[in-house]
Amino acid sequence: MPEVQFASRLQEQVTFPLRVRFTWNRSTMLSVRKLAGGVRELRIQHGFRAGGDVLARAVASYVQNQDEKSSRTIDGFLRENQEMFRRLAGEAATRPVEGKGRHHDLCALLERVVQMHRLDVPDVRIGWGIRRSTRRARRSIRFGSFSPDNTVKIHPDLDHPRVPSYFVEYVIYHELLHAVAPARQGPGLRRQVHTARFNRLERKFYCYEKARAFEEQFIKTMLG
Ligand SMILES: [Zn+2]
Repeated sequence: MPEVQFASRLQEQVTFPLRVRFTWNRSTMLSVRKLAGGVRELRIQHGFRAGGDVLARAVASYVQNQDEKSSRTIDGFLRENQEMFRRLAGEAATRPVEGKGRHHDLCALLERVVQMHRLDVPDVRIGWGIRRSTRRARRSIRFGSFSPDNTVKIHPDLDHPRVPSYFVEYVIYHELLHAVAPARQGPGLRRQVHTARFNRLERKFYCYEKARAFEEQFIKTMLG
């Protein structure tokens, strides 16, 4: 079951706002903690999504009541699928993501951004995106991306001595905010990716103005 669907199944069955974070953990498969405003956060390994509706019900019931029955169902599922959980955790750990560039070390910058802004983000992997060999006319540039498996990719053109590290940090910060302030269903069927909350948080970046100014002139030289 896709992440979004699994998460909304859970939300339907509990009486409080639930934030679901999927992890690739090997040891802690599931944990719940209380956040401000009655929100609870569930961290749950991706492997649970393989359990479908039945398991989603058990997990919801466990999060709500910590009852015996659901806890047994979950334990049973974990036992029967040990192999899968181990494989998922192992794959996540060895998946090649190269963060060290020639000029910028993405892992170090990510660490700095997370600490400086005290961001509450899941275990994120970061790496440089693939440079495309075909040079198409570009109308817009995406400097980074954030995918649902919590991977941040940064455009390889930013690995350049002319690009200051604060700008790379800004791009990382932006992508991390996609985990902090997830997309919402806007009016009609539109999905709002950069919500008002997202934009508000983005402006809190430690040198927002400077980064935006750099971006503006950098885009001109890239597109020119
Ligand atoms: Zn974005």
